[in-house]
Amino acid sequence: TVSVLWFRRDLRVSDHPALLAALDSGTSVLPVFVLDPRLLETGQPRSRRLITSLRALADSLDGHLVVRTGNPVDVIPQVAREVGAESVHVTRETTPFGRTRDAAVEVALQSEGRRLVATGTPYAAGPGLVVTQSGAPYRVFTPFARAWRAHGSPPPAAPPLRIPWFDGDVGGLALPAVAAAGGPGGIAGEAAARTRWLDFLAEGRLGRYAEDRDRPDLDATSRMSVPLKYGEIHPRTLLADIASHPDGRTGGAATFVTELAWREFYADVLWHRPESAWEDLRPDLGRMSYDDGPETDRLVAAWREGRTGYPIVDAGMRQLLGEGWMHNRLRMITASFLTKDLHVWWPVGARYFLDQLLDGDIASNSHGWQWVAGTGTDAAPYFRVLNPLRQAHRFDPEGDYVRRWVPELGHLAGPAVHEPWDHPNGYAHGYPGRVVDHDAERREALARYELSRR
Ligand code: FAD
Repeated sequence: TVSVLWFRRDLRVSDHPALLAALDSGTSVLPVFVLDPRLLETGQPRSRRLITSLRALADSLDGHLVVRTGNPVDVIPQVAREVGAESVHVTRETTPFGRTRDAAVEVALQSEGRRLVATGTPYAAGPGLVVTQSGAPYRVFTPFARAWRAHGSPPPAAPPLRIPWFDGDVGGLALPAVAAAGGPGGIAGEAAARTRWLDFLAEGRLGRYAEDRDRPDLDATSRMSVPLKYGEIHPRTLLADIASHPDGRTGGAATFVTELAWREFYADVLWHRPESAWEDLRPDLGRMSYDDGPETDRLVAAWREGRTGYPIVDAGMRQLLGEGWMHNRLRMITASFLTKDLHVWWPVGARYFLDQLLDGDIASNSHGWQWVAGTGTDAAPYFRVLNPLRQAHRFDPEGDYVRRWVPELGHLAGPAVHEPWDHPNGYAHGYPGRVVDHDAERREALARYELSRR
C-alpha cells in the first residue's frame, strides 16, 4: 500500500516523525504539497520564499514531490483516491487556520474510509502539553519556560536509511519559477538551514549570544526564524545540538534556549486561546483609544516606508522591506513607535509585519505585538514607552546599523547618525523631518492609558 505524506510547515526529510509514521504504515510514500491560493495571497516575499524552499525539498526527494494547487479539502482526498492510499500523514498543525483546515480534510477523507494521521508538531513540546499541576495552561512566560524545560523533548529522530518514494504516475505542477529572493530568504531548504545553523555554532556566536543578541549592528543572532517557520529544521534538532556543543553550558546558550521557549510559549497560548491571533489577550486594556482616518493613514504609510524621520525606526522598517526580516530589537522599537507614538491599534502593524516577514508566524507575531502594545501575556507595561533615541544609542552605539539602511544619512559619522536634527547638514541628502514629536506623543500615550483605566 502507498501512504501519502502531506508536507506543510515541515519541509525537510531528517528528524521528521510524520515521515517515519508514513513509512511504517505503507510500502511506499507519496509526498505531496498543496499550494493553497489563500496562503499565497498573504504576502509576496513569503510566497517566493516558500517556492524556493519547495524547490529544495523537491530536489532532496529526487523529484518525487507532487505539487498541486487548490483547496486541500478537495486536493488531498483526490490524491489519496488516485493512488488508493488508506492514510494521509501530516505533522500536527496547531494554528487556528491549520486546525480548521485539517479538521475539514479529515472529515472528507473519513467519508471515503481513509485516515488523516498526525504525528509530531513544529515544536519541541507540542502546544497544549506543558500545563500546570492542576492541568491548566500557563498564562505568563517564566513559569511556562521552567515547566517546558522540565518537560524536555524527545531526541531527534534518526533519518530513514532508504525512503521508498511512490514511483507511479501522479500528475502535479511544475513549481513556478521565482527570482531568487534576496537576503536571508535567498537561500532555502533543509541543507541551507543546517549550514547556517552550524556556522552560527562554529563561529562562537552561541557563547556570545547573551551579550550580543540585542545589537542589530552585529550579525549576532541565528536567523533560524525563517527555517523554523518552514520546518526546514526542527527546534528539537537545535536543542540537541546545543546540549552537545562545547558552548552548550554558557549563559549565551541558556539565553538562546529561553528565546526558543518564547516561540513555544506563544504557540501554546495560541493553542489555548485561538482568538488571541487578532484580539487583545487582556480586553480590560482594549478600551484604550487609538487613532484612524486620513492623517493616521499618512503616518502609517510613513512608518511602513521608513520615512518617520526617526533614523532607528526607519532603518528597521527598511530592513524589513529589503530583507523580509528584521532584528528583534527593531521589531520592538518599530512596534512601540506605531502603537505608542502614532497611537495605532496593534493589529494594523501586525498585519503588515505578517505580510512582509519571511518568518511571519501568527503566534510569535501577534503575541510579540501584544507584548509591545501592553495587551499580551507578559505585556511590557504600557508606561514603558520605548524612546527611539535612547534605544538607538544603546543598541547601535556607532550608528553602523542605521547607516546600512538609511543612505541619506551616510554622511553623518558615528552615533551622530541618530540625531540628524543636531547637525547643520543633517538633512543635506533628503532625509525626511520627524513626523511626530516623541516626547509629546509619549505624554499623549500615557494620558490615554490613564483614561482607559478609569
Ligand atoms: P534568534 O535571536 O537567533 O533566536 C532564536 C530563535 O528563537 C528564533 O529563530 C525564534 O524562533 C525564537 N525567538 C527569538 N525571540 C523570540 C520572541 N521574542 N518570540 C518568539 N520567538 C522568539 N518571530 C517569528 O519567528 N515570527 C514572527 O512573525 C515574529 N514577529 C514578531 C513581532 C514582534 C513585534 C516582535 C517584538 C517579535 C517578533 N518575533 C517573531 C520574534 C523575534 O523577533 C524573531 O523570532 C527573531 O528576531 C528572529 O531572528 P533570529 O532567528 O535571528 O532570532
